[in-house]
Amino acid sequence: RSKAKGRNTISFFDYSMQEAADRHLQLESNLRLALQEQQFTLYYQPQVDANGEMVSAEALIRWLHPLQGLIAPSEFIPLAEDTGLIVQLGQWVLSEACQNIKRWSEQDLTFRHIAVNVSAKQFQQSDFVEQVAAIVNNSQIDPRQLMLELTESGLIDNILQTVEKMRRLKKLGLSISIDDFGTGYSSLAYLTAFPLSQLKIDRSFVNDVTDNRSNEIVVETIIHMADNLGLEVIAEGVETQEQVDFLLQKGCKLFQGYYFSRPVPAQELAAKWLRKPNGLV
Ligand code: C2E
Ligand code: MG
Ligand code: MG
Ligand code: MG
Repeated sequence: RSKAKGRNTISFFDYSMQEAADRHLQLESNLRLALQEQQFTLYYQPQVDANGEMVSAEALIRWLHPLQGLIAPSEFIPLAEDTGLIVQLGQWVLSEACQNIKRWSEQDLTFRHIAVNVSAKQFQQSDFVEQVAAIVNNSQIDPRQLMLELTESGLIDNILQTVEKMRRLKKLGLSISIDDFGTGYSSLAYLTAFPLSQLKIDRSFVNDVTDNRSNEIVVETIIHMADNLGLEVIAEGVETQEQVDFLLQKGCKLFQGYYFSRPVPAQELAAKWLRKPNGLV
């Protein structure tokens, strides 16, 4: 009996492994197809100042699957990274964001910049800077209107190369933010070596900042550190007025989160959040 059970267990194990592999393959070919068929779209989440006015926005990818509907990035970004498709996907995101920037600028809608997420794999491409430069040139945007969000994990493998790439991006006119800041475990020394513009406090700290003393300390420390290094600081995942009050009191002046707005389609950002200068409608 126990033998039989053992055999069953093994065959079940094999089956589920096979199934997982199949699912993986299927999702991968779906992802390739989705790129060809342009099933992706960008949502934008406003980044606001202390008055709740939008100053910039973050572009966030969505997969509009013809059968499954809207698929969140957590479901396909990891796979896109594993398969290398992230490079193509990332290029699409950059050019799509640049096209939106261009369109909005032509309509006199003002904003400081649009932030675009760049995965570690994408950033580590040897010709990443050339890729970005080509996209920015083709779209004819003001490169100062483009900010790249990088996570700590992708930056520490080869510090010298990272610094060099960042310098060249900065020279092109782009700015760089460190996303999910505080969740990586790299040396703080790189903070001074990298030509950064912004630190983005991870939402896990922001989320229960008002009832978790250690998160309170982490957030406060990041804000002070950014201040001392001359970097802008923004809090992500802001969901309540209490969080805003705490962050303001600690000196954080930029916010992003459901409290202000969920990510919205480009047209909705333009209609509800983007303004012409001097209050002109
Ligand atoms: P992220 O860059 O840290 O983006 C912030 C995520 O937090 C977004 O999830 C956003 O919708 C969500 N969020 C914003 N405000 C709140 C809030 O108040 N509460 C909560 N609970 N969540 C909030 P999303 O859009 O699902 O994206 C998840 C992650 O997927 C992103 O995290 C980013 O790492 C990745 N991602 C998204 N778009 C792209 C892309 O175009 N390229 C790459 N490489 N990665 C992307
Ligand atoms: Mg981000
Ligand atoms: Mg983030
Ligand atoms: Mg995050």
